[in-house]
Amino acid sequence: MEFLETLYNEIVGFFNFGGLIEIIQTDNYKALLTQDGIGKALGPLIPVLLLVEIIRALFYRRLTFTQYKISFFTYVFNRFISRFISIGMVGLCIAFFEPYAIFKTEFTWYWFIYGYVVWEFAHFIYHFLGHKVRLFWCLHSTHHAPEYMNLSVTYTHFFLEAPYADIIRTTICILLGVNPPLLFLIMFIDGTWGAFIHIGENIMVDARLGFLNKIILTPSHHRVHHAKNPLYMDTNFCNLLNIWDKAFGTLQDEKHEEAIEYGITRPMKSGDFLDAYFGEITLLLKDVYQAPTLKDKVLYIFMPPGWHHSGNHKTATIVKKEYFDSVRG
Ligand SMILES: [Zn+2]
Ligand SMILES: [Zn+2]
Repeated sequence: MEFLETLYNEIVGFFNFGGLIEIIQTDNYKALLTQDGIGKALGPLIPVLLLVEIIRALFYRRLTFTQYKISFFTYVFNRFISRFISIGMVGLCIAFFEPYAIFKTEFTWYWFIYGYVVWEFAHFIYHFLGHKVRLFWCLHSTHHAPEYMNLSVTYTHFFLEAPYADIIRTTICILLGVNPPLLFLIMFIDGTWGAFIHIGENIMVDARLGFLNKIILTPSHHRVHHAKNPLYMDTNFCNLLNIWDKAFGTLQDEKHEEAIEYGITRPMKSGDFLDAYFGEITLLLKDVYQAPTLKDKVLYIFMPPGWHHSGNHKTATIVKKEYFDSVRG
């Protein structure tokens, strides 16, 4: 019985049904009008969509377990780890940095817009560093390992990536005056959208969302972000508003003539969970160990992925430059 109970709790937990069940059991439907209630009601949205995606693929006989393998094992592994440690950095960063905020904001619509722009900026910083600093790439690369795009990729993260992202995003937002209730609302919207942009080609073949592709960051843009094609590498770091990608020149639309190839550029054991989860860390440790000088060892940790102490670098910037040179002829 204990096994069935654990299974039931895992399923309710995965589908985020807990909040909704509580509202139904207590007949407290008024709660649906509050921010907390909306959060509880929308909680199951992404997991249920993922289920629909899988059922559709099954129906059209397009489902292969390989497409979900890395995500599935990452989810199970992270659940296992979280039984022993959960690192909540958001609360800590708020408590620590709120006294140093440059000014105070209220819970109003104009401060909401301000907060969202600041949040996107903080997200850009965290995400950009996740691609450009080798140590942080070790935390972020698990998310880029899957060679397919579907909603399960949303759950594919190294367990230390969330605390790393939370420290950077929360600290920047709090220091720039975004108040905690506003921050939580923004985090909820960002989290929901951030999951939705991983919608698979099984459900949505063209994910440009029409005219929205010109205004916001669509699933199509995020598919480009997950691509290893030189044209697409290291672009579209934003999540919902693409303003900072526009500002920093990293916005890239999906091109019809350039089909997306998902995954990371190094040779990987296809569909291998251990390689997806620990592969980059192992390689970094190896490089640090083999580096001839102490300075090189430190540089390996902080320089972009592809940096080499011999000067023969293969960073994304160089790979892209070579690609554009070859296209221009
Ligand atoms: Zn990324
Ligand atoms: Zn993603």
